[in-house]
Amino acid sequence: MLTDIKSLTRDELEARFKAWEQPVYRVTQLLEWLYVHRVATWEAMTNLPKPLREKLDKDFLLHTLELVRKQGAPVLRSPAMRDGGGRDTTQKFLWRLHDHSLVESVLIPANPASRDCGSDASDRRTLCVSTQVGCAYGCKFCASGLEGWKRNLTPDEIVEQVMSVERLSSQSTVHSREPGGGAHPRLKTVDSRLIDNLVIMGMGEPLANYDNLLKALRILNAPWGGGIGARKITISTCGLAPQIRRLADEPLQFRLAISLHGATDEVRNKIMPVNRKYPLKELVAACEHYQGQKGRMLTFEYILIAGVNDAIEQTKPLAALARKLFAKVNLIPYNKVEGLPWERPDEETQEKFLAALEKQKVTATLRREKGHDIDAACGQLRLKTEKEFGGANSASP
Ligand code: SAH
Repeated sequence: MLTDIKSLTRDELEARFKAWEQPVYRVTQLLEWLYVHRVATWEAMTNLPKPLREKLDKDFLLHTLELVRKQGAPVLRSPAMRDGGGRDTTQKFLWRLHDHSLVESVLIPANPASRDCGSDASDRRTLCVSTQVGCAYGCKFCASGLEGWKRNLTPDEIVEQVMSVERLSSQSTVHSREPGGGAHPRLKTVDSRLIDNLVIMGMGEPLANYDNLLKALRILNAPWGGGIGARKITISTCGLAPQIRRLADEPLQFRLAISLHGATDEVRNKIMPVNRKYPLKELVAACEHYQGQKGRMLTFEYILIAGVNDAIEQTKPLAALARKLFAKVNLIPYNKVEGLPWERPDEETQEKFLAALEKQKVTATLRREKGHDIDAACGQLRLKTEKEFGGANSASP
């Protein structure tokens, strides 16, 4: 099986081009076609000699994602339009992969993203990307795992979620940087880049697809690739302690979010089977290690589920954990999943829970937007589409 070209780093491409006795500037040209112009065919790479394009075609795949379904109003790109009364809205993209599997990405507008996902500036457009088809961890409240785990996404399938959204959402305007000498002169950049924040919170457990994820993130972070700062990338995990330790020792400064949802083993065991493998003590120790290596970059996600984890006394162990790990708490009212029994608590309960945390000197936020139907966690659009159309193969736009 051939590898997709967007699964390769610059170094790997340079090694290949060297073996082909191609000059290194050809790699720069190729990367511009892939990550600046975001073209979908080899033929479009007009400044590469035909024999080289044929070689590339023979040795590599060049897949794009097929848009099956899109939900939500467009994210407005002009601040003037936003100020003029328009409002950015979350957009959800359902993609079909080459093997007909379905995955989702969610484009989140500036403000909710900065509140919910830990980004530090207000004018951000965040893409939530998937890392697996389905999920093996079976959190009891989550749509992604309902039909089990199918496969890991390859690095290019993760990278391509960003490129596809940008390709669909903007006509890139390309300009040259200052002509700089060196090995990679005239590296071009996109001045219309849409996405400047990533949250790895879509379908799947990112840390269970560690190598492919890290490779994709290196490509998305690189100046020759996606150009997204590592500090603008948040990886969310249900609590894979060994991989959290591994991530702590990576040189790149990614942010880490823990899907906690319960501050005691009793509550976590009830709703998150992963807690039996890595109970809180182990998870907290891994987080402390991460904290020690990276500084203050930890977020707890806490879905409020009625009657499960929303009692005021739960705020005590939660506040203790948050203080211990210098973590910020994002409270997220549960999004109803068809076929699952869980409900979100009423607004009064949500507000009281937040106030109790704040009283205990914890930095916490509560997602308050109304009409969050399409903001619902990843996995729901895929599930709905598979139900409506009777399976991934027959889903149509
Ligand atoms: N496996 C990773 C990332 C995917 S889930 C993780 O567990 O963090 C992304 C986030 O959405 C997690 O915090 C997850 O618990 C949450 N989530 C899942 N189903 C949800 C629902 N129905 N309502 C609200 N949040 C949900």
